[in-house]
Order: sequence, then structure tokens, then C-alpha cells
Amino acid sequence: MAKKNASSTVEQSNGKTHTNGEQKETFQKENQLEKFFLDQLKDIYYAEQQLVKALNEMRSQCTTEELEDAFEEHQKVTERQVKRLEKVFQLLGEKPEGKKCEAMDGLIKENKTIISETKEGSMTRDAALIIGAQKIEHYEIATYGGLVALALTLGKNRAAGLLDKSLQEEADTDETLTDIAESYINFQAEQEDEKSKQNSSMEVSATSF
Ligand code: FE
Ligand code: FE
Ligand code: FE
Repeated sequence: MAKKNASSTVEQSNGKTHTNGEQKETFQKENQLEKFFLDQLKDIYYAEQQLVKALNEMRSQCTTEELEDAFEEHQKVTERQVKRLEKVFQLLGEKPEGKKCEAMDGLIKENKTIISETKEGSMTRDAALIIGAQKIEHYEIATYGGLVALALTLGKNRAAGLLDKSLQEEADTDETLTDIAESYINFQAEQEDEKSKQNSSMEVSATSF
């Protein structure tokens, strides 16, 4: 951020300074907030890359084609988001670098658990995978939301614009997943439970004869 005594800066009504003319978005690493911003950028860069890989398994384990298509589509979006983050790093004069994101690793692990604990070919698996995927989207929404706000605060407007695109994509994905769940998957998952209950009670009455 520009120093207050630099000749090219103006003091704004909120007391912040802003660079005139050429917009400089490179980092001042002695600034704690800028350093935190860069760390968060590295965190989501790592997280998005892990998600591209995880979506392979999530896609292949879906019961319905609709969810499989949604995951496939989001995998493409996620690949573009990785590239977009590389642009953000470039814009800031930094080389793209990931930093281990424990949260994304944990969320991906939970999705693996969902797959191992639900029956293959069941609607319950899809209902569960949707919730697992939405937890991931909400983590991303929180991260990008915070990054956009910080980028604007730090005067990195072009970076903010790019990050906001990804934020919108995550929000759209979250909404799509809700629509898929609510259109029929949750209902059919509940029905398949009813059916298995009926079947097991029929078995019980058959053996009691
Ligand atoms: Fe993403
Ligand atoms: Fe993280
Ligand atoms: Fe996402």
C-alpha cells in the first residue's frame, strides 16, 4: 500500500491513502494484512487443486447422472478457478504457490467417508454427497468472500474482480446442488429407506409363519 507521504497519494475521507494514476497491486510484505491476504490466497490455491482431484472420485461414485454431471461441470469450473488464481498471483507480482489447507483436506476426507459409509447405487449416497459437496462450497464461499473484501480494502481492485468471479461460481454451484437435492434426490433417499423397512418387516412376518 502507498505510504502517506508519497507524492502520488491522496488521503481519502476514510483516512486511507490511495495511489494516483497507475494502479499498483504488488505486495508490501512488511504489512501484516497483506501477508495474511497472500497466505489466504495460497490456501485457496492449494484447496482448489486438491478439489480438482477429489471431484474425480466424487463424480465416479454418484448414483444419479444429474449429480455426476453437476460434479463434472464443477470440476471444469474448479480447473478454471486454479488458472484464475494464477492470474491473481501474477497481478500481484507473486509466483503461484500453494499452502496446505487443513480444512479442505478434512472436507475431502469427509466425502471419502460418505462414499465408504453409504451403499453403492443408493439415493442416500447422492443426498449425502450433495451435503458433503456443499460443505466444500461454503468453505470456498467464506474464503473468496473474505479475499474479495480484503483485496478491496488493500486497493487491489483487479484482483478483487477476479476473485469475485470465483465467489459467484461457488455460490451458483451451491444453489445448483440445493436444487438437485430438493427436486427428487432427498425424497427418493427417504423412500428407499421406507422400502427397505417394508422389506425387512415382510421378512420378519414370513419367518414367523
Ligand atoms: Fe472452487
Ligand atoms: Fe484453508
Ligand atoms: Fe467450488
